[in-house]
This record gives sequence, structure tokens and C-alpha cells, in this order.
Amino acid sequence: MTAFAVLGVSAQGKSNELRIYSIDVEGGQSTLLVGPAGTSLLVDTGWGDNNGRDAGRIEAAMNDAGVTKLDYVLITHFHTDHVGGVPNLVQRVKVGEFLDHGENREDSEITRHDYAAYIKAVGKTPRRIVHPGDTVDIPGLTTIVLTADGEHIAAVPGVKPTPNPYCASEPKWELDTTENPRSTGILVRYGKFRFLDLGDLTKAKEIPLVCPENLIGHVDLYLVNHHGFNLSNTRAFVDAIHPRVAIMNNGAHKAGSPEAWQTVHESPGLEDLWMVHTAEDSDAAHNSAAPLIANLKDGADGAYFKVVAHADGSFSVTNSRTGQTKEY
Ligand SMILES: [Zn+2]
Ligand SMILES: [Zn+2]
Repeated sequence: MTAFAVLGVSAQGKSNELRIYSIDVEGGQSTLLVGPAGTSLLVDTGWGDNNGRDAGRIEAAMNDAGVTKLDYVLITHFHTDHVGGVPNLVQRVKVGEFLDHGENREDSEITRHDYAAYIKAVGKTPRRIVHPGDTVDIPGLTTIVLTADGEHIAAVPGVKPTPNPYCASEPKWELDTTENPRSTGILVRYGKFRFLDLGDLTKAKEIPLVCPENLIGHVDLYLVNHHGFNLSNTRAFVDAIHPRVAIMNNGAHKAGSPEAWQTVHESPGLEDLWMVHTAEDSDAAHNSAAPLIANLKDGADGAYFKVVAHADGSFSVTNSRTGQTKEY
């Protein structure tokens, strides 16, 4: 084992930036974060099979970032569009440590199968079960687990809880019995910049994070919960976290629901809603403008968003399809 492996820091990929890649895995999640010291965290791995399609797209993002191994892979929950890609990925990429919420909690054939395949693929690689309040050691960043296995953090260090006026009008939501409300969610800070990724957290578990008091505060970048399904993205939650920019990792025919799109789009303070795909089952009024979409209807797939964030809170989003960058 090399000294770099002991430290959990890659020698390559250093910069004075936090880079975040929202990789196109066709309506699943795979998000690559590379900290200023070159430490890498991959949140979810997309789907399995398809000749290793999603692992190939993850490798392409790693190449762009200049990283050759993944220091951490965090699996938010055991749905196939998040964990299914692990067996393909470990054949191609070295992983330092896997992080997840513990055993599969969903009583379904597919999650049992995917969980077993995940455990087999992890093999002898270190695996850590994370709980709310735990941190992930990425030099230069503060990475805090907010949710895991249905539990949530009581208070976020450095955030003063504030009353949330949007709670009063929020309906009471039923808890579902899938893996979604078990999602491991993280808040990542780089100086003043704040990024939120809560996996597929559903409405009943969004509310305790923001009602009666908002525990999270405002964020700069919000990876839209659950690919923009309307089972997630309550108004009380989205309005409270007050994102400047949102990225929806929908597929062409998955999620990107009109209701969730509308809630995020009209949330106070939002400057742009970027979409990984055109939501083809939705209408033009509930899709973003073409420059904000990575993969258009009838176009080639695989385009991604690259976010480059600075400690002063400024950041940019590049659409790999167009090569155009927008500054915030
Ligand atoms: Zn999902
Ligand atoms: Zn899910």
C-alpha cells in the first residue's frame, strides 16, 4: 500500500476547486466530487450491465478530473439505478472505501439481488456504515451525513435552525416502505459553497429536515431529490433550502415530473434548473431551455454537467454537450 492510499488522497487532480460531475446514467444517479486536494467521492454508480455503459461514463468524468482511483464510493440506497453499477465499476476502477446506510431494508426481489451483488463486489474493500452526523474525510471540504437508513441529523454543525414559514401549508405525507426514504444524504461545504445531495429521499423524510425549523439552511447547488419524481420535492423543503442552482438527474422517460419541475423552478432565489435529459413525457412548459439540458430528445446520450466551485461561494456549470459555461 502506498502512502497516498494510507492518506486516502490521490496524488493527481489537485486544484483550488471543488469539482462536481453530474454524470448521465439515464435516470439513475452518479455524481463525482473531487476536492481541492484531489480526493474523490463518487455518490452512486448508475445501473448495471449495458456492457458497462455507466462505469465507462464514470471513468470519462474521472479522466476529465485527472483522478485515477476513487477514494470513496457512497451508495445512497439499494435501488438498481444507484447500486446496480458497482460490479461493473470495480472491474475497472480501484475504490478506497465504500460507504452506505447498512443492509437493504426493502422487501423486493430486485433490491435483494442488487444488495447481494453489491456485497460481493465490495469484497475485501473497506466498507463503512454511516449514520447521520458522520463525516467523510475529504481534505478542504466539510462533508456531513444528514440522513441515513431513515434517520436524520438533529442539528447541522455551523447551521442555526430557523423557523420555516412554508411548513404551515404543507400536507402530511405518508412514509413509503421502499429504500428511498432510507437514502444516505450529504451536505458538502467548500468555504462558502454548499452542495446538497439526498439521493431519492421521499416527501415524508424531507419534512423533518426543514419543519418546523430548517436544519439545513440555504444551499448553492441542489441535486434535485429522486431525479425530480413528484414522490419527492415538497414545496416546504425546496423553498426552505433556497437553492441558487438545481440539477435534475432525470432520464428521457424517467422522473422529471411536471409537478416537481414546477416546484423547483419557481422556488425563491432559483437562478437556473439544469436537466440531464429532456423530460420527453412532460411538456415544453415543464422542461428547461435547451442550453440547460445535457441530453436532448433524439440526440446522443452521455453528456454531463461539470460544476466548478470556489471557496468564496462562486461556481460555474458547464454543459458538456454544448461546451458552454455559465457563471454564478
Ligand atoms: Zn433513483
Ligand atoms: Zn430509489
